[in-house]
Amino acid sequence: MSRSFSLQCFSLSIILASGITACGDSPGAPEQPTPKVPVPAAVAPTTPLSLTGVVADSVTVAVRVTDAGNQGVANAVVRFEVIEGAGTAKSPQVTTDSHGDAQAAWILSTVPGSNRLRASVLQLTPVEFVATTQPGAAATLSVQAQPGGAKIGSVLESLPVIELRDRFGNAATAPAVTVTVSIASGGGALTGTTTVSSRDGVARFEDIQISGPVGPRTLRFEAPALGSINSSPFTVMPAARSAIDRPDDLPGPQIHFVYAVPSDAPDRSFDTALGLAYSVMSFQSWLALKTGYRLRVDTYRGAADVTFLKLDKTDQQIAAAGPFVRDTIERFMRVTGQLAADKIYAVYYDGTSTYACGGASWPPLLIGQLAAMYMRGLPQSASPCSSAVFVNASTEFPRYWEFAMLHDLLHTLGIVSREAPHHVASRPAHVGEPRDLMYAGDAPWQLGTVTTVDVDEDDYFGQSVAPGLANLAGSPYVERVSPAFNVFSELTPLSAEAVRKLAHDAVTLPVHPDFGVLIRNR
Ligand SMILES: [Zn+2]
Repeated sequence: MSRSFSLQCFSLSIILASGITACGDSPGAPEQPTPKVPVPAAVAPTTPLSLTGVVADSVTVAVRVTDAGNQGVANAVVRFEVIEGAGTAKSPQVTTDSHGDAQAAWILSTVPGSNRLRASVLQLTPVEFVATTQPGAAATLSVQAQPGGAKIGSVLESLPVIELRDRFGNAATAPAVTVTVSIASGGGALTGTTTVSSRDGVARFEDIQISGPVGPRTLRFEAPALGSINSSPFTVMPAARSAIDRPDDLPGPQIHFVYAVPSDAPDRSFDTALGLAYSVMSFQSWLALKTGYRLRVDTYRGAADVTFLKLDKTDQQIAAAGPFVRDTIERFMRVTGQLAADKIYAVYYDGTSTYACGGASWPPLLIGQLAAMYMRGLPQSASPCSSAVFVNASTEFPRYWEFAMLHDLLHTLGIVSREAPHHVASRPAHVGEPRDLMYAGDAPWQLGTVTTVDVDEDDYFGQSVAPGLANLAGSPYVERVSPAFNVFSELTPLSAEAVRKLAHDAVTLPVHPDFGVLIRNR
């Protein structure tokens, strides 16, 4: 008994480490002393105070609670509390074991940087663990800089930058990956370095260009094992202004576009804006849908090549040519060496005319290789031609300018031959069916969804066109549309208001002067 008592006394004295004799030989001591509760005196770490790791790591931290005699205190409650970083302590309170030890799992924040966790027991000086984390391994791609400032024939002004992200969205620097860019929507092609390696977690595309068509585009960025991400939509604009016909994408006969301005007229930059380019795409799509053919358009890197032409005469001087404004423009282009023998020219003339909103040659009776729209024409007893507007999108159903240019371009191919069965002698170059693209007559021209190309298929396009007649399908200026090339399967219908406007324009805006008058006065 005595032995066991002294042993118990010994162990208690260790636990309490008080220096006070808690048991002994004092005469009043009871045989069974009152157990004294050990008093925690200090908390110390038993795992490193400073850690490094990766975001969202789970680490174990541990402390030992000791008494004044530096002996572990069992059953002491240790509070584990995150005091910096959005991590969590899995067990906020842990009771020490028989050695005075307590440990807790600490889930570090998903945000890289500093994390701190405090382990405390009552009012004792707490222990603070610090964990510094790095981002995790690259898991996804993110577009840090969106592509933009796209222009046919130029490197993007805003080049895309792709950042690697870990699974929590933090910028990740490793591992280095190869990122490839491609066109996600809008068609065309990319040139330049389309596959790059990431450096310090960032992949930069420094020389990419986009070829036509103009219009909305999105790009896709892909890396092995990291999936893909698309850019925000942006718009590919026409090429920068050019006063010369740029290198042709295709050889052979083709239709070249020109934006022409009188010497004294305001320059509205139609050559570098989207409207003209969309207009061409719209009437091309309409023609393809109606006939399976499209015009062989002079393109530069996939988009219509539009030349800027400053004329040498004033608007008034040119308008003084009366019904021969087109001829005046063509003559200027000829004498300045700007007409290639195998090209037809589609000119958007930003000037006036007192006769019409356009003009065209009609070989062999009206010799020439040029059709022109007079964008600010002021034909007598008609609306100003400037009241008509281009389509707003390449996929929009044609409006007045689209039908008018197509009509006049077909004239430059000699359509409609005088010998065609439905040619109207009193309206040279036309048929008398109001739904026909090549109509002229007293009844209103029916422009809209009912409009078609050669109603009876026997005058200038179709199965029954007699040999010797001007025939759209046989022209070197058209090509069959391959299914793969016809990117627009359907044109977006016009609004009801636009349909009414088109019907109005079809009646009030003459697409060219009376060819009978031109023939008599030439
Ligand atoms: Zn006509």
